Amino acid sequence: MNQAFIALGTNIEPREEHLLQALDLLEADTRITIQKKSSVYETAPVGYLHQADFLNMVLELQTSLSPIELLDSCQQIEKELGRKRDIRFGPRTIDLDILTFNHENSTVERLIIPHPRMHERAFVLIPLAEIAPEFMIPVHERSVEAYLEDLPEQDKEDVRLWKSDI
Ligand code: ATP
Ligand code: MG
Ligand code: MG
Repeated sequence: MNQAFIALGTNIEPREEHLLQALDLLEADTRITIQKKSSVYETAPVGYLHQADFLNMVLELQTSLSPIELLDSCQQIEKELGRKRDIRFGPRTIDLDILTFNHENSTVERLIIPHPRMHERAFVLIPLAEIAPEFMIPVHERSVEAYLEDLPEQDKEDVRLWKSDI
């Protein structure tokens, strides 16, 4: 069995429904088990600012899939939920990003793991710290908590607890 952490994000209504549908679709796959689920956080957009606030959460998965197969499944779910890619970092019904996969390191463009921007994103580190504070991010071998401590206060304030369980 493999362990993966994935991050979910949505900023098109109905946002909670999009998260719930993604959770259902992940759970419907017998090769994937959701081990842990963070709370849901509401986050001001980062990067492309002219868009609505996001809901974000992080999951710990157990899976028999390979990294690329897990990416295929995530992209299939994005497709089923009507994800359209137009503006980079722009609005989306659902975004499923693989943060880490075991202790693997992949640098091919289609799948970079650990996710190259995870350690600078409060909307990833705050939910991840809730379910795995001491997890050592592979390659960097630094804990989630340690990265979180380094983030600017303003970034952390922009991530607000929205609902503790969905
Ligand atoms: P970001 O990756 O900065 O969060 P994004 O999630 O908005 O941006 P997408 O449009 O969802 O970006 O994905 C762009 C490409 O990133 C996809 O084609 C996918 O193959 C690739 N990709 C590379 N590494 C990963 C990863 N770890 N998880 C998901 N997609 C990845
Ligand atoms: Mg993303
Ligand atoms: Mg993505």
